[in-house]
This record gives sequence, C-alpha cells and structure tokens, in this order.
Amino acid sequence: MLCFVPRPDTGIFATFQSGSRTMLKTFRYRLVPNKTQRDKLQRTLDSCRFLYNCALEQRRSQRLGIYEQKRQLTEVRHSFNEYKDIHVHVLQNTLFKLDRAFQAFFRRCRNGEKPGFPRFKNENGFDSFAFNNTGFKLQGKILSLCKIGNVKVRLSRPLPKDSTIKALTVKRVCGAWYACLAVEYTPTPLPASDKAVGIDLGLESFAALSNGERIGNPRFLEKNARELRRAQRRVARRQKGSHRRRKAVLRLQKVHERIRNRRLDWLHKRSTELIRKYGLIVAEELHIRGLAQGVLAKQVLDAGWATFLDMVSYKAAEAGRRFEKVEPKYTSQTCPACGAVKKKKLSERMHRCDCGYQIHRDIAAAQVILGRICPLGANVAEVVASVA
Ligand SMILES: [Zn+2]
Repeated sequence: MLCFVPRPDTGIFATFQSGSRTMLKTFRYRLVPNKTQRDKLQRTLDSCRFLYNCALEQRRSQRLGIYEQKRQLTEVRHSFNEYKDIHVHVLQNTLFKLDRAFQAFFRRCRNGEKPGFPRFKNENGFDSFAFNNTGFKLQGKILSLCKIGNVKVRLSRPLPKDSTIKALTVKRVCGAWYACLAVEYTPTPLPASDKAVGIDLGLESFAALSNGERIGNPRFLEKNARELRRAQRRVARRQKGSHRRRKAVLRLQKVHERIRNRRLDWLHKRSTELIRKYGLIVAEELHIRGLAQGVLAKQVLDAGWATFLDMVSYKAAEAGRRFEKVEPKYTSQTCPACGAVKKKKLSERMHRCDCGYQIHRDIAAAQVILGRICPLGANVAEVVASVA
C-alpha cells in the first residue's frame, strides 16, 4: 500500500491508511490570538519546553522510559500550578516527542550511523505543542483550545468534505502562531487520463519532460540574495545577546520564511499541473545526500526536488494517478530511440545518437526514465493498470 513519509519541515504530511482510500493530511492555518491568548500560548510552549528538558535530564541520569515518565506526570501536575493549567495530552505529547528523539537516536545507532544524542532545547529549538483528538474544537472560524481560550482562525481554505480532525499541533513560526490540523478524509479521484510523462530533474531547467517541455528553474535564493544578505549583515553587526540583535534575527527569519513560502507555492503549482494532465508520472530516484554536499549544494537545495517529488507522490495518490520512481543509472547516457549506451560529457547539451536520433540531453533522459516503466508506443492505460 502506498505510504507517504511525513516531512514536517515542508508542511506536507499525508499518509494513506493501509487497505483503504482514506487519507491523513495536515492543513495549516494562521491563528489570530489576542494579547491574553498569545501570552497563554507562549507560556504553554515554555512550560512544555521546560518539561522536555527536565525529562531529558532524567533520562540521561536514570534508566527509565516513556511510560514511567508519563506516570510521574500526575505528580508533577499536582505539585506545580503551571502544569495544572495545561491539557494533559499536551504534556504527554511533549514526553512522546522526547521519546521519538530517543527512538531515532537508537535506530540510527543500530544502523551504524553516528547520531548526536538528543539535545536540550532552547527558545529557538522548540516551536510546537500538540493535542490529540480531545482538548480542542473547531467551530466556524473559532478554534477553542482547552485552558487557552477561543482563538480566531484565518480559514484560508476549507477543510475537505466529510473530514474528521484527528489531531492538532500548535506551532510558532517567526513570531506568528499556526494551527496544523491532521485531517482524515476520502479524496475524490480525478477522471482517468491515458497520458504518461517522464521527468528529469536538473539545474539548467528545473525539470525536463519526455514530451519535450521544460520547466524553468526559478532560483528563489538567487533572486532574493540581496534581501537575504542585507538581513544577515544586520544580524552580524549587532551585539550578541542584545535586544536589537534578537529583532534583527527575527527579521532574517522572516526573509527566509518568505523565500520558503514562494518556493513552496511554486512547487505546489507545478506538481498540481502535472497531476491534472498525466495518468502516469515517472521520475528518477533522487540521491540528494551526495548532491547536497557538493559545490552546487546551495542550488540543489534551493531547487527543492525532494519536496517536489513528495508533492507529486501524495497528490498522485490523492487523485488516483500512478507515480513511479526508477533508478537513475545511465539515464543520461542511453539513447531513448535505440537503447544504445553512449557516454556524454556534462558539457554536451545535445543527445546525438548514431541511429540518427537528436534531442536535448535532459529531454532524452526524461524519455529514458519514462521508457523504464512505459516503453515507447505502449498502451498507457494498460501500463497504469499493471503497475497499480
Ligand atoms: Zn540511438
């Protein structure tokens, strides 16, 4: 069954429950708290962070696990008033968050990696707390949060029909508050399409399609470099620990956030276009780790290929389209027309084969990628059915 790995950093989070068409997806909305509510949100976040750090300290010095810590929570809530003022699930989820950090640490140890031990969190490193399915209620444009109040929500887009809210994460980003609602619903598939496309991701153009189209690379970092440099300079000039430096940091974060939003918006539009048009989409498996360490690291990360493929993947699942990934080996060296392998230098921008086939190298690669799932001239509808 299709399963989408959550990438909370991009705000995309969608999974298919196995064996059914229901989907779990996160919707993020801006909260508009008043002064009192803002203080309460901040106090809750601070208390959760304090709890997280204490629980971490405890696990460093004693051998005990999440369940023992959860039991002790009752005592903590009896003895300290600030914890009585927070919904119990929020505190439990904070302990689970720490437990997940430990699980990830142990898993990576077992895999022979050298992970860092879970760390204490300072103000900047801890930005959210979560409710389970109780402790909050969304009614119209008001989100009632237990022990915090009725907070106004900017419902920038409607939740899907017949959906149930499964969980809520309250998040602070650049001084603004957001509600991330995990929603379960059954998506309606798009009408079937018998068109197929292969995608080759690159830097010269963001993507080359097997039908000869190319999607340009928007290079958001480059475009906003001046603004970014200015904000960075401002931070560097201010004294460490000063109030004015903190303000400058916030402004820098906002610049980054704006670039990120522009990039996400662009990626959402491009991925939706593909999903609307094609019944079968084939891309290459990305090995970004290696790429992101090279000289082109900045450009590679700015392009946002991984995010793009994640978007295509979950949108395909949502719309009832097929999305496949293939091994990228020799995709740029093979001739899509006759299958001959011919080495090209990176500087050669054209594919010229002895069989007479001539085309831009990235488009040739996209055609090879498509050909690995759906050979030239094959019936797409049949292929779609067979890989499904
Ligand atoms: Zn050829």
